[in-house]
Amino acid sequence: MSNQTPLSQEQLLAIDREHIWHPYSSFTHPTEVFPVARAEGVRLTLTDGRTLIDGMSSWWSMLHGYNHPVLNQAIRDQLDDMAHVMFGGLTHAPAARLAQQLVALTPAGLNKVFLADSGSVSVEVAMKMAIQYWQSQGLANKRRLLAFKRGYHGDTFGAMSVCDPVTGMHHLFSDTLAQQLFAEAPDSPFDDPWDDACVADIARQLADHKDELAAVILEPIVQGAGGMRFYSPEFLRRVRALCDEHDVLLIADEIATGFGRTGKLFACEHAGITPDILCLGKALTGGYMTLAATLCTDKVSQGICEGEAGVFMHGPTFMGNPLACAVANASIELLLASDWQHNVQRIEAQLRRELAACASLPGVAEVRALGAIGVIELAEPVDMAVIQPRFVDAGVWVRPFGRLVYIMPPFVISETDLTALTSGIYAVLAGYLDSDDV
Ligand SMILES: *Cc1c(COP(=O)(O)O)cnc(C)c1O
Repeated sequence: MSNQTPLSQEQLLAIDREHIWHPYSSFTHPTEVFPVARAEGVRLTLTDGRTLIDGMSSWWSMLHGYNHPVLNQAIRDQLDDMAHVMFGGLTHAPAARLAQQLVALTPAGLNKVFLADSGSVSVEVAMKMAIQYWQSQGLANKRRLLAFKRGYHGDTFGAMSVCDPVTGMHHLFSDTLAQQLFAEAPDSPFDDPWDDACVADIARQLADHKDELAAVILEPIVQGAGGMRFYSPEFLRRVRALCDEHDVLLIADEIATGFGRTGKLFACEHAGITPDILCLGKALTGGYMTLAATLCTDKVSQGICEGEAGVFMHGPTFMGNPLACAVANASIELLLASDWQHNVQRIEAQLRRELAACASLPGVAEVRALGAIGVIELAEPVDMAVIQPRFVDAGVWVRPFGRLVYIMPPFVISETDLTALTSGIYAVLAGYLDSDDV
């Protein structure tokens, strides 16, 4: 069949069922997938003509909406110059602009930028930086990571080793995963009065294990895929201070939180801290292309370069891809030129107002919102095979996991569309929780 022959919906789905892995998917127990024909603004249009209001921003990334003329043009313009060149021995303006912008926008002191191809790779790079740093200080024993329960940092082996040991499926891969240390999850909600007891476990573990620890890795303020939990900025300040006290590096994974999602451009700003190493991804290109970045301080870069290897030992084939850098630059410019803070505050207020009704549904444990993130935590895991088609029938794209029904809409969503999204969620949950499907 030639590429020009359009696939019917049936053909597309048949090929998909036969050949294509989806995230966390099974060929023997497949769940329904919905073919998308196009996407525009905050709407996905399915091949059967139905349109869905997008509550997921394609996993935190699509800040300005789909098919944005400025972002489309940025790619077209860059394409005319070059789609890609290798980054070993060569450099280019899109990467230079992006590096300059990231250094300027992120917390002060993060001056060196490694452009990686995905979030998980940027986490691998961060871990490798931390380990190489201590090795070059003559402290090669400092090579373990201290992570938090309920954390999520990606699906590659290094990243997996620092994900929550239970939900991160460590038992499946226990022989092959690096054995890391885990502290109790931050248990101090974002707005609650501070309680010193929250840092007792991490403080003890740092004191006990500092000689073998290269770094602490955490998701600042919002633990994302591991539970969608929002925690106190004071926790972050304390962990920063503890890392300094015990000579352990701090890696902040802002792959989900970066670029305004929590109400600050970067979640570290809630606490006014600078990590030693910072991971960015997801919204970096406004959801257009895969690109991630690992930033570090001069102290870390200098330490690495003074070491035995003399260089930082990493270099992906598509490092610094010019198309991805160009669209990242355009997305960041759009974000900064927009009234994003106001938009995120508006979305937060509306999420709090409109999702509150869900709190009184039977089987709902908690409803919470921070920035442009709304979460409905249920008492029991949802049955995806039942609930996913109901969301689609209700005209909304919401993809729960486990006990969590959550949304993080594009920042450009209008008040009316957001109301359609929240009322769609309410209606579907009310029907689902009231039925025997639970
Ligand atoms: C999504 C995510 C990752 C992994 O990024 P990928 O691009 O999916 O590899 C890592 N850390 C956090 C906090 C994330 O949300």
